[in-house]
Amino acid sequence: MSVEASQRKTTEPGALPPAGFVPLCVPELRGREWEYVKDCLDTGWVSSVGSYVDRFEKMVADRVGVAHAVATVNGTSALHIALQIAGVERDDEVLVPTLTFIAPANAIRYVGAWPVFIDAEPDYWQWDAEKVRAFLEEGCRWADGELRNKATGRRVKALLPVHVLGHPVDLEPVVDLARKFGLAVIEDATESLGAAYRGKQVGSFADMACFSFNGNKLLTTGGGGMLVTNNAEWAQRAKYLTTQAKDDPVEYVHGAIGYNYRLTNVLAAIGCAQMELLDEYIAAKRRIATRYETALATIPGLQPMREATWASSVFWMYTILVDAAVYGRDSRALLAEFSRERIQTRPLWQPLHLSPAHAGAEAANSGVAERLYRDGLSLPCSVGLTEADQERVIATLNRLASSAR
Ligand SMILES: *Cc1c(COP(=O)(O)O)cnc(C)c1O
Repeated sequence: MSVEASQRKTTEPGALPPAGFVPLCVPELRGREWEYVKDCLDTGWVSSVGSYVDRFEKMVADRVGVAHAVATVNGTSALHIALQIAGVERDDEVLVPTLTFIAPANAIRYVGAWPVFIDAEPDYWQWDAEKVRAFLEEGCRWADGELRNKATGRRVKALLPVHVLGHPVDLEPVVDLARKFGLAVIEDATESLGAAYRGKQVGSFADMACFSFNGNKLLTTGGGGMLVTNNAEWAQRAKYLTTQAKDDPVEYVHGAIGYNYRLTNVLAAIGCAQMELLDEYIAAKRRIATRYETALATIPGLQPMREATWASSVFWMYTILVDAAVYGRDSRALLAEFSRERIQTRPLWQPLHLSPAHAGAEAANSGVAERLYRDGLSLPCSVGLTEADQERVIATLNRLASSAR
């Protein structure tokens, strides 16, 4: 129990709870983490080999429903390796959403390739498969058995859908397009472990998929990642590249430029304990989402997060859209008010076609991501968020709505 929660217990009946800080999304370490970490320390298996690494990989592979998983130091490194294995090379292009955390676009640059930023759809705020289709069919042409961007002349090599905020991308059309145009597909499932698309877990549809166990994700190892695939050869290649590409461990013969992208046994131990509680944590996230949705139904100008009929979302980062004209305040003014209340909220990411880090990149956009960026606000949604703290968030939304009118 947090210090704040225990203090709240001692307040007198009827008294207002003390206005403690409500963070946006913090780790929940309530399982067997200590026990497993202690086991690592007691046995001396603290480094990059050990039974917890193997166990963590197997737990994730089994859960996602794929044959192989390779643990990595973080989700970004898993993406970096996946792109290499998919055959993405210098000056290739990879299609990626403009509305996402920046990591997948950066990973594309790490291999010397270029991102092409495609807009979001307005309903679930995910990658718009229709705009992907339009770009591939109208913006590209076939030349010598390869697909080339008409504008840049570069080879288009892969699609990188990102399941943002815990909700899946509409994947079927994306995978169909990839087959039609001979492109690799890598799912960035870092924000959506446990989410399902048409009854199957995200991460099991594409050639490869990547997960993250960063501190703000649904499950965390402090920092960590995972590459999953059904292709045994690729899994082996991923293990090889993430462990310095060592061909002979005695003579230290290396067959390629590899990386030290391993996850330590200590962190994998935390991961095993976290995986044991995945379903509990998803249930908590969904409960939080339902409470917000119910409350928002009576506040004009605030749109809740939606879930498609073909999807099961884990509601990783609960986000609303603020219609400033109706609500009376825009998303940033609301953020400032929350901040005064010691409640942490956050806008969505700056769309990457506007990012200085990726200035000059190709983009196909019609303003959806820009509108979502303008109006979006993520609300406190930690797995351990108490009902009392969520009530404070909701009360603030209500109070500001009436004060604005
Ligand atoms: C968190 C995240 C990553 C990267 O994960 P790290 O473990 O922080 O490297 C990649 N893509 C998206 C969409 C993310 O949200």
